Amino acid sequence: MHKKQHLALSYNYLVYKGYSRSAVFEKEKGQHWYLPNEWAEILMNPEGFKLEELTKKLPTYKQEEIQNDLLFLRRNNIITPTINLTTTDYQDSTNISNYFIDYCSITISNPVNKTLFNTLQNFQSKRLELYFNSKSKSLDFIHVLSHLNFESIAINLDYNHFKKLNLNELAAKIPKLATIRIINTPFNHSETLNRIEIHKIKKDSNHQFNFKLLKVANNDEYNQYYRGRIHINADGTIKNAPNAIKTYGTIYNTDINDVFNSQDFQEIWKAKKSKVDVCSDCEFRGICIDKRPLKKRPNGTWYSTEDCNYNPYLNSFKGEDNYLTLKECGVESSKQGFKILVDQFIAVKTERPNAAQQIDLNQNLL
Ligand code: SF4
Repeated sequence: MHKKQHLALSYNYLVYKGYSRSAVFEKEKGQHWYLPNEWAEILMNPEGFKLEELTKKLPTYKQEEIQNDLLFLRRNNIITPTINLTTTDYQDSTNISNYFIDYCSITISNPVNKTLFNTLQNFQSKRLELYFNSKSKSLDFIHVLSHLNFESIAINLDYNHFKKLNLNELAAKIPKLATIRIINTPFNHSETLNRIEIHKIKKDSNHQFNFKLLKVANNDEYNQYYRGRIHINADGTIKNAPNAIKTYGTIYNTDINDVFNSQDFQEIWKAKKSKVDVCSDCEFRGICIDKRPLKKRPNGTWYSTEDCNYNPYLNSFKGEDNYLTLKECGVESSKQGFKILVDQFIAVKTERPNAAQQIDLNQNLL
């Protein structure tokens, strides 16, 4: 069964209604687009709108026109799914729910089978990310998948398995290819080749900094790795992301639309960085893509059993002289909660007077 989806004008956009048409402005870059007044009225409603209401609100529009307009608005980030959905928002049906996936990623080891292909055919999203693992023998599937409804394609490869890859040839053959990320390379290097961003990464990490995030709406607020993403593993398992632990059945035994639209699956999309242990104290959270598996506590806070390689309490990265693990400086984050062992923490900070981060110990004590 398909579900309702609730959307609203993105926070950094403004709509001005004119006599015969309206304009929508993006506040930061000053970009603007023109819209029919019927759409402007919908977008100007501060409570947003539900997909199922659109046929009533746009009585002269054909279903196909509504879908095309929605795609345009979504691709330009003019509308965004609202995050405070009530349980009832998930209980009714609509036929146009699966247009709003920001990212779809799949891990590929074998040739793409018919079920996976059919599943992907139903998605229309900004980006398809392909992860080729050690069993992947060829990149031929990219040609097939590039004809599907994804605006751009990113591929992730291991240098050990694709040393002889001809990047120029690949770039020429796949016009939608926007990013190639190669891990385990002999050195770090980034370049742009025929419009394609190529990142060679010596050692993969469970988080990465990306300054482009500064241009993304809500970059400081939400985890951008999980937000709006669905992932399908090589065996068909459905997850939030390649690094997520929790699984939601497989594409062979589960309706992927039910998974995608469920409150349980979308929970992590709403994970606020200010509610994630340690990240909430980190000055890099606005540019950080945190890929660690995250778990939610009943009180709404999040934690990870993996440390990243930065300790914001000492302002130091793993490998630097000043670095200690969180545990070594008295910071504990687990299912039970977040706490700082004050004596240990003060001793560490006293030994490292240059560690500039100041935190409110009282606030962080259990
Ligand atoms: S602590 Fe900082 S660097 Fe580490 S994952 Fe969180 S935001 Fe990123």
